[in-house]
Amino acid sequence: MLIPNMNYSHLKDSYLFYNIAQKTKAYLAEHPEQHLYRMGIGDVSLPLCDAVIKGLHRAADDQAEAATFNGYMPECGAPFLRAVVAEHYRSRGISLEDDEVFISSGASDELGDILDLFDRSNRSLIIEPAYPAYVDANVIGGREIVHLPSSRENGFLPLPDENTNAELIYICSPNNPTGAVFDRSGLSRWVEWANEHGSVILFDAAYEAFIGDDELPRSIFEIEGARTCAIEICSLSKTAGFTGTRLGYTVIPKELKRCGLCLNDMWIRSRTTKTNGVSYVIQRAAAEVFTPDGQRQIGENIAVYKQNARTLMQALDALGIWYTGGRNAPYIWLECPNKMGSWEFFDLLLHKAQIVGTPGEGFGKCGEGFFRFSTFGSPEDTREAAERLKALL
Ligand code: PLP
Repeated sequence: MLIPNMNYSHLKDSYLFYNIAQKTKAYLAEHPEQHLYRMGIGDVSLPLCDAVIKGLHRAADDQAEAATFNGYMPECGAPFLRAVVAEHYRSRGISLEDDEVFISSGASDELGDILDLFDRSNRSLIIEPAYPAYVDANVIGGREIVHLPSSRENGFLPLPDENTNAELIYICSPNNPTGAVFDRSGLSRWVEWANEHGSVILFDAAYEAFIGDDELPRSIFEIEGARTCAIEICSLSKTAGFTGTRLGYTVIPKELKRCGLCLNDMWIRSRTTKTNGVSYVIQRAAAEVFTPDGQRQIGENIAVYKQNARTLMQALDALGIWYTGGRNAPYIWLECPNKMGSWEFFDLLLHKAQIVGTPGEGFGKCGEGFFRFSTFGSPEDTREAAERLKALL
């Protein structure tokens, strides 16, 4: 008798975005004349920059001529792209070899697939509130999850202590949903702990490009000792608007070994078995992100989102509402006013100000009483939402 992966039946319904969609749909059905100010989306709103679009066109033309046509691409990534990504790290003082960079179709794919490298008996520590895919990928894999709740008291940046016990540690910095960013000393504590205990850190750097403060680490490999205990998973989704174009990269240092096995070698074996690489056209376009023009242009787009963050933060400052994030992250995580619950605040904003945000409770129990604003919307909508917030509260 065929037995399906019964772990799927242990998944909790992903009600968060479904519930938001249902509630907004019902509101619009009753108030069709209203415009909604969507501060909940985690998707970008600005188009791809000019350098990337030109790269896409050129790569499409390459595929039209026998002399420049590409068939299957190398499974671990095109050498030209692995080289520019590695150089991007090296230009920031991080020593990295080209073949320590693996090209992927995005961080989500890698966050799930990377678990192939680890035995099922390993426990995964997830700092909560968390990006929901961490929990779900581990439930599907049948792994025990160690939930580490964070709070306003520790700035949503908890550190390991004598009770910490897990083989895999997920760290997302800048964090989704809280926007909190680990400083060097905090990340060093996790790196030291992981090296001491033989654990591996899965470092999600999807939002690194939003860090403007030079004192804050944009990569875990800025931290001494990380090469023997960390894997970094990164993405061009938010960095360069690739959410619908799809490209990410994963860094696995060659020194990262456990039980005599080199995880970089294991990942080569995994990729050559399970993928046939990322599209040539997309990899060529992605390489443009790392050119001087590409870097300037993506910087201009990120500046628009950062201005949105400032607009919302000014409104919250004026209202005296506690929040974290926003400065070095595209998310602002605020405490709901008057001790309201997350969904209660959601309903209030939707019905009285036509603003849609994301209730914190959807990212884990300790997110109750908090709320996430995304800064990926249009500047016009963000300015109007900020005015409406001030008027309402
Ligand atoms: N990691 C975090 C923390 C995210 O918030 C997201 C997307 O929102 C991802 C990973 C997924 O990124 P990608 O589009 O590269 O799959």
